Amino acid sequence: MQRSENIQVALRFRPLNIRETLRKDPEVWEISENSTYIKPSWTEKLQDSRKISNTKAYTYNYCFSSLDTNEDVYLNTSRKVVEASLQGYNGTIIAYGQTGSGKTYTMMGSDGAELDNVINTSQSMSDASIERHEIPKAKGIVILALEDLLKLIEENTTKSCYLSCSYLEIYNEQIFDLLADKDKITDTLILQEEKGQGFYIRGLSEHVLNSVSDVEKLIKKGEFNRHYAATAMNHHSSRSHTIFRVYVTSVSINNGAYDVGENITTESLLNFVDLAGAERVNSLQEAINPLETSVRFRVSRSPRSSPRLRSSSTRRSIDTFVNEGKHINVSLFYLCQVISKLSQKHQSPDTHIPYRNSSLTKILSTSLGGNALTCIICTATSTLSQVELTLSTLRFGGIAG
Ligand code: ADP
Ligand code: MG
Repeated sequence: MQRSENIQVALRFRPLNIRETLRKDPEVWEISENSTYIKPSWTEKLQDSRKISNTKAYTYNYCFSSLDTNEDVYLNTSRKVVEASLQGYNGTIIAYGQTGSGKTYTMMGSDGAELDNVINTSQSMSDASIERHEIPKAKGIVILALEDLLKLIEENTTKSCYLSCSYLEIYNEQIFDLLADKDKITDTLILQEEKGQGFYIRGLSEHVLNSVSDVEKLIKKGEFNRHYAATAMNHHSSRSHTIFRVYVTSVSINNGAYDVGENITTESLLNFVDLAGAERVNSLQEAINPLETSVRFRVSRSPRSSPRLRSSSTRRSIDTFVNEGKHINVSLFYLCQVISKLSQKHQSPDTHIPYRNSSLTKILSTSLGGNALTCIICTATSTLSQVELTLSTLRFGGIAG
């Protein structure tokens, strides 16, 4: 399939954790350049056990192995999106994958991922610290991007740029401000449409960024609030999406003075999206997007994947599915649909992009598609025990590109 240049897709395998290592869970996926495939020594066994039915390779713009660092991922995938924001282009960087595959580690760094794990897996602190012990500190893409942006801004003599940010969470279609004052953390925010300007989140706080330490403090505050609110409202954080938004305003300078006239100020928006775990969206995605019928999935993890749905791709059946299966994440499902349609759009320009179906797609509507640059980082695990969930993530990556 010809790929859309504005949407880049990367795959990243995380290293085995201590449990997988102790269990001797074998690694069945291998990477060669920008493709991944099942190791030849495993294909027959997996075909016999019907976990896979073919041995195709999955190709992306980039494939990162467990040896690659967050810096490697950032420099190869997201840096272009970040740089383009200074030229006025909106951008979105998305981490997609099952719970535990490394989305938060990639986006928010090792500290964010550790905090998430304690809450998500109901591990005791001592269990979590066994795994934490193994993991060296790593900055996430958000920090790496802001370090870069601040440096580029400082070096630029033709533009004066200002950065500010917001940090929000979407849980069950409701929006929360992760940087709100403590007494407002559990308030839900209203999404409002502004004519010709897309959707606007009323009351979302915006914070000036002058230094990397500003960013670090705000991320810490957001993460603290997220876990405080999750406990207060009994939310499960693997089911929520977070978006760290950076607003970039640049004003051109001429001979040391601000330019006057039209088009001298550009405003752009960067979204760093850490999605909910993709494990629950798979069955529905498969039902309406049977692009690879040759790959067979066992349905044991997907109780709602009935044949009835396979034959229908209508809006009605999607709604029925979403309503029936409360465990399906509406925003995640519709984001997959929007991305899949966007990747078809460069071949069929009339394709309608259904942004209005969920909070997440409404919020991202001005930064996905059009001139905006999008980078999707699919995170996955190369072990045998996760082979079907990994296949599902690989398949999503194929649709997205
Ligand atoms: P997710 O957000 O997808 O649920 P996490 O980012 O929380 O997953 O990652 C799960 C665990 O694996 C965490 O302990 C995290 O620190 C670790 N981890 C994930 N990716 C990597 C990586 N590339 N290198 C080292 N450890 C990683
Ligand atoms: Mg996470």
